[in-house]
Amino acid sequence: MALIKNKGLVIKEQAFKEQDKILTIFTQDEGKIQCIARGVRRQKSGLLASTQIFAYSEFVYYPGKSFGMINQANLIESFYPLRNDLTKMALASYLLDLINNAYDFYQKDPVILKLLLYVLYYVANGKAKSDVALVGAFQMKLISVLGYRPRLENCTRCESQTDLNYFSIEDYGVVCKNCCNTGGYAYKITESMYKAFIDFLKLPMKEIKNRDYKVEDMMKLNDILDHYIGNCIGKTSKAYAFYKSMQNPLI
Ligand SMILES: [Zn+2]
Repeated sequence: MALIKNKGLVIKEQAFKEQDKILTIFTQDEGKIQCIARGVRRQKSGLLASTQIFAYSEFVYYPGKSFGMINQANLIESFYPLRNDLTKMALASYLLDLINNAYDFYQKDPVILKLLLYVLYYVANGKAKSDVALVGAFQMKLISVLGYRPRLENCTRCESQTDLNYFSIEDYGVVCKNCCNTGGYAYKITESMYKAFIDFLKLPMKEIKNRDYKVEDMMKLNDILDHYIGNCIGKTSKAYAFYKSMQNPLI
């Protein structure tokens, strides 16, 4: 069987047998795959660093029906600082969990993989003014790429372009002041939250990282978007509560 060479990010790891791991890898060429990495839980394993969570590596593996079998892995980027900071780690873990929930096996998305690598790099190396804003922008761009871009330009119920002060999960977008009581629950969003929503959708990540956003706004938008994503893809992220618990809005 021919070996496959493919770059990818380890998004989940599970202990398997005595010294092995089952890795879930979001790869460039094959999308989300699962591979068995033999002996990598031994301290002396040469593949220890390249097969751990958050590692972006070039993998060489034998393809299999359910699991590939890792033959070789060369580390490209470890995002090492994520391991020394529980807040950053919780944030990054949430993003990996989103990817794991959002994609089926062999569903590939090199654009989102690249975006995720940028976000992890910015967060790991303290390059952004607000890490929480990066999470919001990633949530928005991910769900839009998946085909659930929320409607933000006008009210989803009456098409008004003014007083767009609410966001409704079940209407897939914003709702105006006049319509907010005409259906199910809608989140209140302030003017600055609305502007940030538009930024998340339209600006590249490298611009988002240089902007000042209010932490409280960002936390609320993270909540709305996590709820929205859960509703769209039909799976809720178990890592979100840990991410939230590690954020201190006073910082
Ligand atoms: Zn309306």
